[in-house]
Amino acid sequence: MVRYGDFRFLVDCGEGTQRQILLSGLGFRNLNKILLTHGHLDHILGVAGLLSTIIRWESIEDIDLYGGRDTIERVSDLVTRIVCRGTRVPASIHFHVIEKGGTLIETADFRLSCFPVLHRGTDSFGYRFERKSRRPFLPERAEALSIPPGPWRRELAAGKSVTLPDGRRIDGEDVLGAEIPGTVLTVVGDCGDPRPLCASVAGSDALVIEATYLEEDAAMAKKYSHMTARMSAQLAKDGNVGRLILTHVSRRYRDRDILREAAAVFPNTVVARDLDSFHIPDRPEDAEG
Ligand SMILES: [Zn+2]
Ligand SMILES: [Zn+2]
Repeated sequence: MVRYGDFRFLVDCGEGTQRQILLSGLGFRNLNKILLTHGHLDHILGVAGLLSTIIRWESIEDIDLYGGRDTIERVSDLVTRIVCRGTRVPASIHFHVIEKGGTLIETADFRLSCFPVLHRGTDSFGYRFERKSRRPFLPERAEALSIPPGPWRRELAAGKSVTLPDGRRIDGEDVLGAEIPGTVLTVVGDCGDPRPLCASVAGSDALVIEATYLEEDAAMAKKYSHMTARMSAQLAKDGNVGRLILTHVSRRYRDRDILREAAAVFPNTVVARDLDSFHIPDRPEDAEG
């Protein structure tokens, strides 16, 4: 689950997700956006359980599911033929087919976008969550300029120029502080070839990506279109990301072996465990902002 402001996103929904949400204590409130990386069963089977629970509630809020065409086809089959069998799929469930990379959701301070990922014949997508860069409104400057309370403050905060009732013209520049850089989290599911990803993950403050195999099993990684820990670490290094969070580790390995291999290439790596929580902080430059 990715949380930002009032947004709650679930990236993929494997078997047991509903139970993990309960265990985590995060709850289902506002959890109304499900982003699917691809249609392999270990990434979508939990949609059935989650939606069947939500559908049973008296009033359900709108739920949006996003994914490539094959992924959405598979998930809507699951919902239409299994979960809602014999009844109508509630109008509040919306399936969104992603045709190509680009912006999915945008507000004044936030942008969710997606980009294509190569993984064994699927129409896979990765997701980029961006808190936009911003310039803070400085109330002490507004006070110094004797700007009266009113709609102009909002306009100035948005960087616009306003004319005050006393005829003075004030520019947004006069009341805005230095730019605070944005914060970016990139989440990639399964991946067989990281080369086209470098531009998409470049500069992320944190990158979540799979590391199914160790390099000693690189042949198997290639065969099944997955990453080794070293490949993911190399991607993080090439993309100059801040922190690397590895997931989807094969049960044949111990986490510490995956970590050792990755950290040799990219030291700021963690292997995520179930129910771990990570905070992606603002960049150090905005310490005074
Ligand atoms: Zn897969
Ligand atoms: Zn998988």
